[in-house]
Amino acid sequence: MSKIIALVAHDNRKKDLLDWVSHNLKKLNDHTFYATGTTGKMVSEVLDHVTCLKSGPLGGDQQLGSLIAEGKIDYLIFFWDPMTNQPHDVDVKALLRLSVLYNIPTASNRSTADFLITSRLFNNRDYKPILKDYSIYLNRDLEPKG
Ligand code: PGA
Repeated sequence: MSKIIALVAHDNRKKDLLDWVSHNLKKLNDHTFYATGTTGKMVSEVLDHVTCLKSGPLGGDQQLGSLIAEGKIDYLIFFWDPMTNQPHDVDVKALLRLSVLYNIPTASNRSTADFLITSRLFNNRDYKPILKDYSIYLNRDLEPKG
């Protein structure tokens, strides 16, 4: 079953992501991708179905977060750079927060990405990430007390 996969790589990790994508091209080309601008431009030279969003620091990470919140992303492959400060660190954090909130399988490095795409659950049409019940939060009492 075709899945929707988000791809992001910080500049120092772009080559790592391109290597991983190229190594797994046959398997990955059965799926559809959203990617931040520069990452998307790079991987679309080898991958077929890539929608490029804005560049990460110009809002692309937030666009991906929005797609996650809308239930439109199955997996996030995000090779972030552990050695360099990012100008859009708050956006990076927000994207990773939403991937946890919505229980999106997320890989931040190559070995986790390998485990993800070789899992027997990867192509399983019936697998749906279980979402936490936020109804208590949504229905919280906002009336002033007293
Ligand atoms: P980029 O963005 O793919 O446009 O470089 C990645 C990021 O830094 O979030």
